[in-house]
Amino acid sequence: MGPGEECAVGHGWQGAVLKLMGAKDFTFTVTGAEQVTEDYRRVHFSDGGLLAAAGTHPTMWVRIWFANAGKPHQRAYTLVDPDPEAGTFSLEFALHDGPASHWARDCAPGDTVDATLQGTGFETPEPRPGRFLVIGDPASLPAVNSLLDAHPDVPATIWFETRHASDEELPFRVDPARHELRRIPRQRSGAALVERVRAELPALAGPEAYVWIACDTATTRALSGYVRKELALPKERVHALGYWRPS
Ligand SMILES: Cc1cc2nc3c(=O)[nH]c(=O)nc-3n(C[C@H](O)[C@H](O)[C@H](O)COP(=O)(O)OP(=O)(O)OC[C@H]3O[C@@H](n4cnc5c(N)ncnc54)[C@H](O)[C@@H]3O)c2cc1C
Repeated sequence: MGPGEECAVGHGWQGAVLKLMGAKDFTFTVTGAEQVTEDYRRVHFSDGGLLAAAGTHPTMWVRIWFANAGKPHQRAYTLVDPDPEAGTFSLEFALHDGPASHWARDCAPGDTVDATLQGTGFETPEPRPGRFLVIGDPASLPAVNSLLDAHPDVPATIWFETRHASDEELPFRVDPARHELRRIPRQRSGAALVERVRAELPALAGPEAYVWIACDTATTRALSGYVRKELALPKERVHALGYWRPS
């Protein structure tokens, strides 16, 4: 039995199913951390062979196993600045009250986490978008940044849901010459964001636009239904994935 198999078995039925689906397991080691804002923390890792084995792509994410009360909990996180030559990357954690956030607050150099790679992917839309219409929040900021970084010539409008006063200081990789960032404070469980997007997106949703949505699951569902059904955007011009489940 190889280390990957041991790892999957140790992660119960979810790990076993992922293994059957061809998932690969890795162990990441913490090399440092920075508190970016009081609600957002960046942790640096060595990659345990991940990047050499899997390469990189924009919005690339991994499933990380965090222990809580003796049980493993799988949570998705997006790679920040993956460097295949150095075998390093960072993760950025939007902090709240949960096992992944608790781990990120307390981790120290030398700590390790197990991770499984399965399900991530990205294809640059063809024809190349004339504009990205991006809707996200602090949990999807690493993915939004990677999308913008990977398409330096494509203008973007970003509707970004904020929750904390400190979100003003988040590490947005926006270039004011090409990107327009519209911040919307979270109100009524995401309804304020949905209203703003419904009011503003249609004017920008020409045939060359590509819509990328990653908010909480309910907001993501509302917005993807809106652009696909009410605006009738073709499905190959829309990507939508719920990033966290509101309680
Ligand atoms: C493909 C993908 C990539 C992702 N990449 C990132 C990333 O790079 N950085 C990142 O921070 N998150 C990312 N997420 C979201 C992250 O996986 C979830 O937020 C996850 O639920 C956090 O786990 P937890 O153990 O901290 O909290 P949980 O145990 O899942 O939840 C605990 C409580 O916190 C609430 N909660 C969970 N997440 C959030 C949130 N983001 N904002 C406010 N309240 C929340 C829940 O409703 C619950 O009440 C990604 C998700 C997906 C699907």
